[in-house]
Amino acid sequence: MIAVAVAGAAGRMGETVCAAVDGAEDMQLVGRADPLLGVSVAEVLADADVLVDFTTPDAALGDALSCIDAGVHAVIGTTGFDVQALREAAFAQSPRRCNVLVAPNFAVGAVLMMRFAAEAARHMSKAEIIELHHDAKLDAPSGTAARTAELMAEASGGEPPPIHSVRLPGLVAHQEVILGDLAQTLSIRHDTISRESFMPGVLLAVRRVGDLADPLVVGLENLLFDERT
Ligand code: NAP
Repeated sequence: MIAVAVAGAAGRMGETVCAAVDGAEDMQLVGRADPLLGVSVAEVLADADVLVDFTTPDAALGDALSCIDAGVHAVIGTTGFDVQALREAAFAQSPRRCNVLVAPNFAVGAVLMMRFAAEAARHMSKAEIIELHHDAKLDAPSGTAARTAELMAEASGGEPPPIHSVRLPGLVAHQEVILGDLAQTLSIRHDTISRESFMPGVLLAVRRVGDLADPLVVGLENLLFDERT
């Protein structure tokens, strides 16, 4: 049994994660931290093997650093915070007691979209990214769009494509990458219509975070596309 605590447990994603962990036969939900519940992350870490964090850009780095201090593995879904500061702390552990997995998107379709966009960027001359989210999202551009642009720039050796952000009620999480070249365009689009789309990826991350090769890994693709899956 993996003992799992959830930070941001009263939020949109956190509530969905708590239900998914409750329904997983190999996991036990041991803590729900959220200001709305009056429970801090520090209070739930003692009983946890893994903390899953879906909080806010201001809270996520501190939560992850608390995990490293406590020797608790962390799965971070929160976007819009400084991953570099976390990288330094994760690699500075001596001895290494825990790992951190950060993923801007836990939906397999979104991970594939990023992969296909990076491949396409090698062959087409220009691209732009449009990301569309619900109007309560705190960060812009989205973590997924920023990561897509980074992967496309790495693959093409050029500048990252521009990102356009749309925030409207009625949306969940959507992204379209449009590539253009002589007399043609290619559109790669992913749509999330429910937060349940992220749950298989979150549960996979909880199961695998303990045996990552490095103390900090960014991107679910590192779990989806290796030889074990
Ligand atoms: P949300 O509904 O606002 O939930 C965030 C919750 O975290 C709120 O209840 C908030 O409480 C709480 N919180 C704030 N600081 C905290 C702390 N220090 N400890 C514990 N809980 C704390 O937001 P959401 O829509 O669930 O999104 C959460 C994050 O996940 C965002 O960064 C979003 O971009 C990201 N996200 C990632 C993925 C992915 O696949 N990686 C998918 C969807 C969303 P207060 O309201 O009192 O501040």
